[in-house]
Amino acid sequence: NTNFPELIWYNGKIIPWQEATVHIVCHAIHYGSSVFEGVRCYDTPKGPAIFRLQEHTRRLFDSAKIYRFEIPFTAEEINQGCKDIVKDNNLKSAYLRPFAFMGAHNLGLNPPKVPLETSIIALNWGSYLGEESLEQGVDAAITSWNRLAPNTMPTGAKAGGNYLSSILITTEAKRHGYVEGIGLDSNGCISEGAGENIFVIRDGVINTPPLTSGILPGITRSTIMTLAKEMGYTVNEQAMPREALYLADEVFMCGTAAEVVPVRSVDQIKVGDGTRGPITEAIQKAYFGLFNGTTEDKWGWLSYIND
Ligand code: PMP
Repeated sequence: NTNFPELIWYNGKIIPWQEATVHIVCHAIHYGSSVFEGVRCYDTPKGPAIFRLQEHTRRLFDSAKIYRFEIPFTAEEINQGCKDIVKDNNLKSAYLRPFAFMGAHNLGLNPPKVPLETSIIALNWGSYLGEESLEQGVDAAITSWNRLAPNTMPTGAKAGGNYLSSILITTEAKRHGYVEGIGLDSNGCISEGAGENIFVIRDGVINTPPLTSGILPGITRSTIMTLAKEMGYTVNEQAMPREALYLADEVFMCGTAAEVVPVRSVDQIKVGDGTRGPITEAIQKAYFGLFNGTTEDKWGWLSYIND
């Protein structure tokens, strides 16, 4: 599979792709008892650099903590593993998937207090919603599946099982001819895309749903909030009704895999004039500028793999 480089980091060792297998009794396969991250390494003018590595690793440990899972490595070891797997595969850019899962012990719902199996996979993965989407935008629709309610499963954990919700949302959207689906929260307010957070702009003000709207606290979301404030925009975290999408001047979605993608229509209602809006474009420029050197990394967000 050309999408997957040769080597994988597995429980602290770098091994060939073919050898990184699990047993069929693996708890995570049955119940989704895993936590993971999606991280990007960009080929910057100063060499390959992993974007916001510390924050991603912190969220991995946060996700494990919520489920009382133990990752038998330190954050520093995971960070180093991420750098090593890029370097040893001779990659310049990559999508990284740090991943910790309940292995093959038993199939009970009170799994033994054993450490998780831990792995880091590197993939070649272009912009998730398509390269052309970055400029042209995507057609999205509200799906019939709500996002997880706060008292059902914690959306603040990036856990394997949560992604059955994302699969329902994505496949329904695709079945109906849309590029991406947008879920509402359990109160009917806007939550997020199947794998992206969402921003809604009207009259120059940028709004995004709060953590209580069933979202994953996205690291791209946090990056964009910081960049947009730096650019002088007002950014609010606030619950929004569905029609805020219909009445917006601009809407965009963002995530590590998807990057920053304009939404040109929602439920076949044009957003603004149906093309990428100026604020979205300015935010994309600032975001991608972090990787092509035109936006100064004032925050120390880039971890160079050769450092
Ligand atoms: N929401 C969901 C459900 C996601 O899977 C992702 C991708 N990890 C995001 C939002 C965006 O998060 P991030 O910017 O940290 O990639």
